[in-house]
Amino acid sequence: MTGEGGSDAPAGSTRLVFDASVAFDAITTHEELCAWSRAYCERVAETDAFAVDLSRVEWEVSTRAKRRAAAVKRPRIDGAVVGEERDWDGDVPTCTVSLTWAAFDAFSEAEWTATLRHELVHVEEFQRFGTTDHGPRFERRAAAVDAPIRVRRFAPAAYVLSCAACEEVVARRYRACKLVRRHDDYVSSCCAANLTVDERE
Ligand SMILES: [Zn+2]
Ligand SMILES: [Zn+2]
Repeated sequence: MTGEGGSDAPAGSTRLVFDASVAFDAITTHEELCAWSRAYCERVAETDAFAVDLSRVEWEVSTRAKRRAAAVKRPRIDGAVVGEERDWDGDVPTCTVSLTWAAFDAFSEAEWTATLRHELVHVEEFQRFGTTDHGPRFERRAAAVDAPIRVRRFAPAAYVLSCAACEEVVARRYRACKLVRRHDDYVSSCCAANLTVDERE
C-alpha cells in the first residue's frame, strides 16, 4: 500500500486529482481511522498467523491521550498470568483498541501500522492469557511478527494539506515528500481546487 494518491505529474503539465479515498493520508474522521486500522489488522491477522479473534475486538479513537499512540483497554481478569492459558469456554471477553488521534496525525503510515501490530500482540496475549504486558514473551512475539517492542511517542504532524476552496484536510505528511513539495501539481478531489500547505512545528 502506498501512502500517496495520484501518480507523477508529467513535467508540470496536467494537474492530477488527489483522490485518496482509501489512502492512509486521506483519513479525516474517527470512523475512517477505525475502519482503516481494523482492515489492516484483518489483513495481517491472516498473513502473519496472529492468533486473534477480531470479532471480539472493538475500536475507538481517543482525542485525549497525550503520549500513548494506542492502547488495548481490557477488563481485569482475576488470577490471569501471561503464559497461563485461559479457558474461556467459547466466550472470549471483549477488549477495545483505543487509537490516539494526535498520534495518527503525527505518524507515517509505516509507523502507524507498526503501532497496530504492537497492539495486536497485546490483543493476542489478552485473548490467550487474560492479561498482557511487555515481558519477555511479548518481546519474542513482537519480534516474530515484526512489531516494535515499544511504540514511539508522537509529535504533531509537520505538514497538513487542505482544499483551498472548502478547507477540508485532504492529507497529512510527516515529511516534505513530493506531495508537499509539488502540491501545485494537484487539485483536491472534493472541489478540484488548489491545495494549501500548513507547516507545523
Ligand atoms: Zn504495549
Ligand atoms: Zn474542497
